[in-house]
Amino acid sequence: MTTITDRLAQAQHRIALAAQKCARDPADITLLAVSKTKPPAQIIAAYEAGQRRFGENYVQEGESKIIALKANYPDIEWHFIGPLQSNKSRIVAEHFDWMHTLSREKIAQRLSEQRPAGMAPLNVCIQINVSQEESKSGVAPEHMLPLAAAIAGLSGLCLRGLMAIPTATYDHELQHREFAQLQQLFRQLQTHYPEVDTLSMGMSNDLETAIAQGSTLVRIGSAIFGERD
Ligand SMILES: *Cc1c(COP(=O)(O)O)cnc(C)c1O
Repeated sequence: MTTITDRLAQAQHRIALAAQKCARDPADITLLAVSKTKPPAQIIAAYEAGQRRFGENYVQEGESKIIALKANYPDIEWHFIGPLQSNKSRIVAEHFDWMHTLSREKIAQRLSEQRPAGMAPLNVCIQINVSQEESKSGVAPEHMLPLAAAIAGLSGLCLRGLMAIPTATYDHELQHREFAQLQQLFRQLQTHYPEVDTLSMGMSNDLETAIAQGSTLVRIGSAIFGERD
């Protein structure tokens, strides 16, 4: 049986190989383990194998896991990576360390106001919609800088970079183009905000392409925890 420990090691190996191929330092690429729909016991198994960063997609599910694990695993870094409705922003502001899917100024303001005074500012990434699909969330590339300027003025938030979920496709060319466009946007953002350091892109099926195009954080779910029901 393949264990979470084995699969975590395999994911790290894929990251190292992909980095080597494009002459990047594997240490510059963070592995976020996406634990949505998986029980706390599997998070603990990954933790015991050395994993410290976990991503959750659903607000209430994430909140209950954080509450369950906080006392015994205080050094887990929790990333919210799902869509967020403004009426649930408080839960993210009060429990998570990172929020990857920011695409509205109104939610940015709420998160900043709701961030508890005793906590470090919430690290945020702007979600970019690079795919042609109307239904995808995220801001259009031309709205990146205005939203970044709004975030920069909020004391409860710390702008860290960009995140995207490109078109789910077997078309390698299209995948490559979308990741390349994101890298270009990331560089543009860095010219305005030099401290920005995170390009959150790449998942179980496309992490190699994402790393070749400059990803600094890959979000890996099924390759670590197995397929979701
Ligand atoms: C589920 C999810 C992932 C992980 O996807 P896998 O294909 O299981 O690796 C990454 N990012 C986001 C935003 C997700 O919703």
